[in-house]
Amino acid sequence: MGWLVKWRLISRPPWVKGCPLPATMCQIDHADGWADGGPTDLANLGPACQFHNRDRYRRPERYQRHRTGKDRWTYTYLSHTDRARVSSVIKGP
Ligand SMILES: [Zn+2]
Repeated sequence: MGWLVKWRLISRPPWVKGCPLPATMCQIDHADGWADGGPTDLANLGPACQFHNRDRYRRPERYQRHRTGKDRWTYTYLSHTDRARVSSVIKGP
């Protein structure tokens, strides 16, 4: 990955809402996982701290993905209560 691409990525805010780390201290994360065929390009990459990068892959049910632009994503970390609500919406009453 070239320096210009990295610069463009770390000039974005970290994509997990509420993460206290600045993007300059983040890793470059794939929205669609690299191991699952997610491309390494600007439309699929964003800054995430080491904790959120790993936690999102280990516990994807804890994160809700939002499109915020043509090639921009953010994630909301769901509390236990939020996860129960999302699960009941998906499954229905
Ligand atoms: Zn974080």
